[in-house]
Amino acid sequence: MDEHVLPTYRRADPVFVGGTGARLTADDGREWLDFLSGIGVTALGHAHPRLVAALREQCSALTHVSNLFRHPFTDELAQRLASHTCMHAAFFSNSGAEAIEAALKIARKVQKARGKGARTAFVALEGGFHGRTFGALSVTANAAYRTPFAPTLETTFVRAGDVRALERALANSPAALVLEPLQGEGGLNRLGVDYLRAARELCDATGTVLVHDEIQCGAGRTGRFLCAQWAEVVPDVVTLAKPLAAGLPIGATLVREELADILAPGDHGSTFGGGPLVSRAALVFLDELDAGLASAVTERGQQLERGLDELAGRHDAITERRGMGLMQGLCVPGRAADLQAALFEAGLVTCTAGGDVVRFLPPYVVTAADVDEALALLSSTLDGTLN
Ligand SMILES: *Cc1c(COP(=O)(O)O)cnc(C)c1O
Repeated sequence: MDEHVLPTYRRADPVFVGGTGARLTADDGREWLDFLSGIGVTALGHAHPRLVAALREQCSALTHVSNLFRHPFTDELAQRLASHTCMHAAFFSNSGAEAIEAALKIARKVQKARGKGARTAFVALEGGFHGRTFGALSVTANAAYRTPFAPTLETTFVRAGDVRALERALANSPAALVLEPLQGEGGLNRLGVDYLRAARELCDATGTVLVHDEIQCGAGRTGRFLCAQWAEVVPDVVTLAKPLAAGLPIGATLVREELADILAPGDHGSTFGGGPLVSRAALVFLDELDAGLASAVTERGQQLERGLDELAGRHDAITERRGMGLMQGLCVPGRAADLQAALFEAGLVTCTAGGDVVRFLPPYVVTAADVDEALALLSSTLDGTLN
């Protein structure tokens, strides 16, 4: 298998061919409960009727025109994102990494426009993950991802939560600070409210552009549209991607009003970004979120959190539950890969994060019965694997 695919992933064996809601079906008829949703992407689950109907209709009408022309959905999507975020304007691309690339370019252009063209370096956090393209890779902490491709852009990594270390790094006048308010790949580390506020204040004091990467934790997953809204912190730039078009590839880089003119025609671009099909999908996602899905995320998140806390209390191998809303993890030092594999065998799709954490990113449409079933599968698997 996969002879003609570059071996960048160690793929599991089943061949998935369909699904509904939080269920996935393989070609041999086996079913899984999907508590990963394509790494936080298929927020409306599989085969969501409204999404399917909208995409069918859009496929028959218009799928692509390029950004040289207008179609009915880009403006509406940008306006809806602005109203959900306190940001003002959006650039649309096709992935998380591309959303970060735009953010890094915007940060450098901001500094140049202020006459601070020497401010080209970046500050990012240990445990942070921002993608695999060169710019995004440069601000990604995991050295194993970066070193085979060095040199990357000049970046200083500081310990998450350490305000003094951040203060020292920002004193060196970087272009931007890039952080995830709730780190995903790094192991579900939540940055505290005080730290997020201190980062905002330090960026203001030093003229550093503050970029919040909400590609995994944003777009409603923690119970607020942006995770940083829990801390009432407004960054200069926000990146969104994973769940935003409910399974279709999208990236969005949002800027606050003062930066809305920073990119001029020709400064940046994307052939596919913000096309009719993907924008239509994103509008269906936002409609569903506004029509009650946002509060469902809060309720199912609390249910999942309670169940995971209870399991963590019963099993010594679990040192901690981490996360918020429908972005949760169990810390099982040295055992995460084994537990993830055992859960997959038992019929529950999850993945690991940061080496020691099993991560749960169920679709926003997950039902109370799905959550109960996942917790039961976890409980029996934990009894069989960790004791
Ligand atoms: C997944 C992820 C990215 C990269 O997104 P891609 O679509 O894979 O390029 C960037 N930042 C965070 C926080 C992510 O979780």
